[in-house]
Amino acid sequence: MKLYSEADVDTSVLDGRQITILGYGSQGRAHALNLKDSGFDVVVGLRKSGKSWARAEADGLTVKEPVDAVKGAAIIAFLTPDMVQKKLYETVEPAIDKGATLLFAHGFAVHFGQVAPREDLDVVLIAPKGPGGLVRRQYEEGHGVPCLVAIHQDATGNALALALAYSAGIGGARAGVIETTFAEETETDLFGEQAVLCGGATELIVAGFETLVDAGYQPEVAYYEVMHELKLIVDLLHEGGLRKMHEFISDTAAWGDLVSGPRVVDDNSRAAMKAILTDIQDGTFARNWIAENENGMPEFKRRMNADLEHPIESVGKALRSRMDWLEG
Ligand code: NAD
Ligand code: MG
Repeated sequence: MKLYSEADVDTSVLDGRQITILGYGSQGRAHALNLKDSGFDVVVGLRKSGKSWARAEADGLTVKEPVDAVKGAAIIAFLTPDMVQKKLYETVEPAIDKGATLLFAHGFAVHFGQVAPREDLDVVLIAPKGPGGLVRRQYEEGHGVPCLVAIHQDATGNALALALAYSAGIGGARAGVIETTFAEETETDLFGEQAVLCGGATELIVAGFETLVDAGYQPEVAYYEVMHELKLIVDLLHEGGLRKMHEFISDTAAWGDLVSGPRVVDDNSRAAMKAILTDIQDGTFARNWIAENENGMPEFKRRMNADLEHPIESVGKALRSRMDWLEG
């Protein structure tokens, strides 16, 4: 594993050079504000009709339409939703300086061939391993969220130096920057969110809730058990891995974990994980997701509504409203 820290970075490669941030959502806002506070020259590129324009201006940033924003930029960060990056790149490409650097926070558009960058451009990835809110908060507190760095195209010979300087500007180099490839970042990121973090975790919660409620237990009690308390366990895992969790839970919980966990995540679940990974690697998932976008997202909306209309949502909403210490 190759790891870069602040000592490996020379931020002077960005002295007097403009960084353009396209998009001002979760990642865009965090990157733009951190880079500005690090002393870099930042311009935000947004559609004048969009909601983010006023917010970026209120935050004290220079905001322009995307085509104007990329003019003269040394680095152009594509921090819009992955599915709009192809069109956006095609729109701004003629205005991008020769030898500039395109930067992505997730490799999807480049890895799956949606964005086919001009040959004179550097193409790099700086992917923070955390949501934008955390990237901003950690920076403000003097820390940073670790990042991955990858180089897809090094036309100028400076791609890595520029990418690392950017990672330092957003605070990532304080926590360490691990070298990867666009393929590895994209495929592991998609797998993680599908099989474990988002898809796997929510299905596990809902299945646990349904099992208890179907067996006649009160939905409120089931909610506390399988949704609310999950955070306490995840915090322990996050802070100190399996060992810390086992130190803090009861012996009875630990024994139940060891004998029953493998009955839930069994060979069938592992085979499903493998199939999910294969769909990601061979491009099936990307093709389907791109087609779903082009069709107006009917299946996305249908499945999302079903998720949000599940009884665990109304039960949870009522219970959370009584816990005023929760961030709503
Ligand atoms: P987001 O949905 O929070 O924000 C998108 C922003 O793009 C908004 O400001 C929106 O107004 C703007 N936008 C949309 N269409 C546009 C267009 N045509 N032209 C200009 N601006 C446009 O996005 P996000 O979640 O921050 O994701 C940005 C990138 O970061 C993606 O590649 C994503 O995969 C990656 N990423 C996100 C996270 C995360 O935690 N959200 C973590 C790591 C990487
Ligand atoms: Mg789900």
